[in-house]
Amino acid sequence: MTVRTRADLVSLPSYVPGKSIPGAIKLASNEVSAGPLPSVVRAIADAATAVNRYPDTAATDLVARLGDKLGVPVEQVAVGCGSVTLCQQLVQATCTEADEVVFAWRSFEAYPLITAVVGARQTRVPLTPGHGLDLDAMADAITPATRLVFVCNPNNPTGTALTEAEIERFVERVPSDVLVVVDEAYKEFVEDADVPDGVELAKRMWAAGRDNVAVLRTFSKAYGLAGLRVGYAVASPEVADTLRKVYVPFSVNALAQVAALASLDAEDELMARCRAVVAERTRVRDELVAAGYEVPVSQANFVWLPLGERTAAFNEHCLGHKVVVRAFPGDGARVTVGEPEENDAFLAAARSFAG
Ligand code: PMP
Repeated sequence: MTVRTRADLVSLPSYVPGKSIPGAIKLASNEVSAGPLPSVVRAIADAATAVNRYPDTAATDLVARLGDKLGVPVEQVAVGCGSVTLCQQLVQATCTEADEVVFAWRSFEAYPLITAVVGARQTRVPLTPGHGLDLDAMADAITPATRLVFVCNPNNPTGTALTEAEIERFVERVPSDVLVVVDEAYKEFVEDADVPDGVELAKRMWAAGRDNVAVLRTFSKAYGLAGLRVGYAVASPEVADTLRKVYVPFSVNALAQVAALASLDAEDELMARCRAVVAERTRVRDELVAAGYEVPVSQANFVWLPLGERTAAFNEHCLGHKVVVRAFPGDGARVTVGEPEENDAFLAAARSFAG
C-alpha cells in the first residue's frame, strides 16, 4: 500500500523561486543587493552562541518594538516565518474547505498555492489594462463564501500601487466579516504620497468599528533579511490572536529575531538605502521607456515589463547577458532594481533585445 496523500495536492505545482546562477547578476527575487549592515551581522553572531536554546516563541521583544514603532498594542502584532507564512496563517485562520479567497491576478505567486494548500477555493480577478488591481471587480467577485481578500500594495509583480481613497472605498464595499489583507511587502519603496501607510489606514478602520483590515509587512526586502525569514502582521486583536493559534511554535528563529531588532535600530541607514533603490528605479524605468518598452510606474523595488509572448525570448536574452530576471511566460518579466552597475548590465541587455 502507498501512503494516501491528499488527492487535490497531486497536480499542485510547487512554488518556483527566482534562480541563482553562479557568475550571473540576480535580479529575480526582489531582494536588496547590498549585504546586511555590520551591526546586524554582529547581533546575529552574538546570538549564535545561544542557539542550543529554543527561541522565544512569542518573539516578545520584537513584537513590543513593532507595537511601539507602529503605535498599536502588542496584542495586535503577530510575527511569522516571513510574511509568506503569515499569508498562509491568515488563510488558515479564516478559511475551511467550502470557503473562498479572492485575489488579483497576476499578483504574488504564493496566494494561489497557499489557498490550495489550505484547501480553500480561489477567485482570481484580472488586473486593469494599466496592470493595477481592479478593486471594483474584486469587490464584485466577493460571494457569501468569501472569507479573505488579498490586496497586494504595491502589487507584485507589476509594481502598481493603490491610493488611500481607492482602498477605503473598497473596504467600505467588503462585507465586515470578510478579512481584507493589505500585503505591504514593498511599502518602504513607495514614494507616491497618495499611497497610504496601511497600518495607519487600518487603525482608522478599526476606530470606525471595521475590524476586517489586516496588514502584512516583512523584513525580507527593505530591511535586507530575506535569508532569515521574518515578517509581521498587524490586525484586530481577534485576528492576531487566531494567527498566534495557527503559528507553528518557534518558527521565527532566534537569529531572525535579533536581526530584525538590530535592523530596526539601524532603520535610518536602511531607509536611505531604499531611497537609493527608488532613484535607481526611476532611472531604470526612464531608460526602458526610452528604449521603447512599456513599463508601468512602479512603487516597489522592481519593474514590470508586460512583454506577453515575447517574455520567454526576453528571459533567454537576459540570461545570455548573465542577468537573471523573473519571467512569467506569456505574460511579462519582473526585474528587481539592484545596484547601479547591476542595473546597467540589465539595461544593456534590454536595449540590445529591443534594438
Ligand atoms: N508578499 C509579497 C507581495 C511578496 O512579494 C513576498 C515575497 N516575494 C512576500 C509577501 C513574502 O515575503 P517574505 O516571506 O520573505 O516575508
